Amino acid sequence: MDRSVTPYVTRWTGEGTSAADVTVTASGATYVDPIKDALARDLDGALWTLCQGEASGKPEYAAELHPERQKSTMDGLLCAGCNKPADRNGDGMLWVLPLLDDAEESNWEGIQAAIPPMCAVCADRAPLLCPVLREGHVKLRVREAEPIGVRGTLYPRPGEPGEPQEDVLVLYDSPDLPFVVARQAVRELRRTTVVAFAAALP
Ligand SMILES: [Zn+2]
Repeated sequence: MDRSVTPYVTRWTGEGTSAADVTVTASGATYVDPIKDALARDLDGALWTLCQGEASGKPEYAAELHPERQKSTMDGLLCAGCNKPADRNGDGMLWVLPLLDDAEESNWEGIQAAIPPMCAVCADRAPLLCPVLREGHVKLRVREAEPIGVRGTLYPRPGEPGEPQEDVLVLYDSPDLPFVVARQAVRELRRTTVVAFAAALP
């Protein structure tokens, strides 16, 4: 597989996340290893999952985006495909998203996106590469894309029953934020303009 063509944020089979021990106290989730904990904490105070492995094997298009590369591109508004600045014009920044189940009714306002924006070249190429986008996608221009929180594993507070819940959206102003181990940064897309819809490719 040509690595220069595979989207930057796509996870490879050679990559995974570390099973570093997490401990939960009344003040939140931390890694048992203080060095790992310091490295894994972002400026908003969220604790992030630790990535390991290397970009080898096969690209895993159906899997979650690679957490470190997803975060860096989302934070920097860089292209999910090539890690260069995303495309921007008078209507805003360019986003390519899979169609929602209720795509017909959706006005594509207030979407909570964990997919970073794209440059013009990658916006055309990504649906040819990615089986999820090939099933149908929308191209949007977005004027506001505020970071609102993270998706990740939410740990129960000490003494609370239950298991950690995976893939939970936790907003930055939520009291749950200290109890999540983040895997994806989320922005809310507002003041959007639909540029094009594409149905599933054959
Ligand atoms: Zn690009």
